[in-house]
Amino acid sequence: MSTSPASQVFHRDLLHPAPAVDRASGVHVWDVDGNRYLDASSGGNIVISIGYGVQDVLDAMAEQAAKVSFCGQFTSEPQEQLARELADFAPEGMDYVRFTSGGSEANETAIKLARHYFVESGKPSKHKIVGRWRSYHGNTLGALSATGHVMRRVSYAPMLLPFAHAAPPYRYRCTLCAQSDACTLSCADDVERVILNEGPEHVAAFIAEPVVGAAAMGMVPPEGYFERVREICDEYDVLLIVDEVLSGMGRTGRNFAIEHFGVVPDLITCGKGISSGYSPLGAVIARNEIYDAVAAGSGMFEHGFTYGGNPLSCAVGLAVLRHIEKHDLVARAGDVGGYLIDEIRAAIGDHPLIGEVSGLGMLAGIEVVSDRTTKEPFPYELGVSKRIARKCQERGVLINPSFSGNADGYRGDRFGVCPPYIFERADV
Ligand code: PLP
Repeated sequence: MSTSPASQVFHRDLLHPAPAVDRASGVHVWDVDGNRYLDASSGGNIVISIGYGVQDVLDAMAEQAAKVSFCGQFTSEPQEQLARELADFAPEGMDYVRFTSGGSEANETAIKLARHYFVESGKPSKHKIVGRWRSYHGNTLGALSATGHVMRRVSYAPMLLPFAHAAPPYRYRCTLCAQSDACTLSCADDVERVILNEGPEHVAAFIAEPVVGAAAMGMVPPEGYFERVREICDEYDVLLIVDEVLSGMGRTGRNFAIEHFGVVPDLITCGKGISSGYSPLGAVIARNEIYDAVAAGSGMFEHGFTYGGNPLSCAVGLAVLRHIEKHDLVARAGDVGGYLIDEIRAAIGDHPLIGEVSGLGMLAGIEVVSDRTTKEPFPYELGVSKRIARKCQERGVLINPSFSGNADGYRGDRFGVCPPYIFERADV
């Protein structure tokens, strides 16, 4: 069941080797010992959007691989066409796309593009990025600097860029306005506080996940949060980057999760579900004004990665996007996802060790606490959410464990239930 004890792969978790996967189909995965799992984790990393083994995508891959997989000096029809169709899928006025190989690269790209935009616009003092605590934007050093996931930063803290972080919109553990009966959006005001503290003339962008993933699975901001954040960004001439690597491409029941909040950002980053795991792919979608500023300026965005926009991954992305649209999978993610969250609430919402159940669509998060009344978390060392995920796996169901932590040292356990969009009510 485990990988061989002689494994020479430098795995992430050396103490708990994962089983080796053999094959997958639809919403099921088989390990090399023939055990079958119902995948409510979308491949563990919340990647699989349209399910495993979709023939249209396999055909598109084979066809493109036979034509050309890579040729960095040229653009390609799959890249150009995917950009056009993604622009149609994105909010209006966001018509330009830069491709990458994944989410961290997409966020690095967005951070640098925000900075470059201000250089091109004659405001070169603007270079700082503001993030939030309880966020995850990737493991490369720039994206990790914007990240507010304490556990993932801790070993590398001395190497990180000095990006400031605002408070998370975390109503369940709000330290700002939780004492008042109604939410006063103090977490949004905190974004303004941080921008003022850094000096608005130095701040290029604020980056946030519309619905949080790894750092606080399924954390949905309070009503009005993103509207207020948009106002703040406009007031101080700060770009709003929404990291939709996990929440985008339909997972929450809208094309992009930010659409739930009635706000148009300046940059959207994508990954994961954009290729449903068939090939590595990420993207940054930019508002037209950003493209126009570069076009009217130097005409160069001097940045890129070797595999960004490779024809094979773009052909996959195109096939995945067309499959999502053809089968109306965004609506289905919203519909079955809503049912999923209701059913989780009904099944365990009142359990003495469950603090809250939250989320949108196929992005459900459950917080585990040792005491429901005091909200006391379990000691981090117990690794409760990982143990829950392992128990589920033993019973043939895959879910997403997650740990995080606040700047104040709080370390909490949440786990996600984030299935592919093709999950049926019966699977729930
Ligand atoms: N942003 C978010 C919201 C993510 O959830 C992740 C990955 O989990 C990333 C960025 C990083 O993406 P990748 O692992 O593809 O580099």
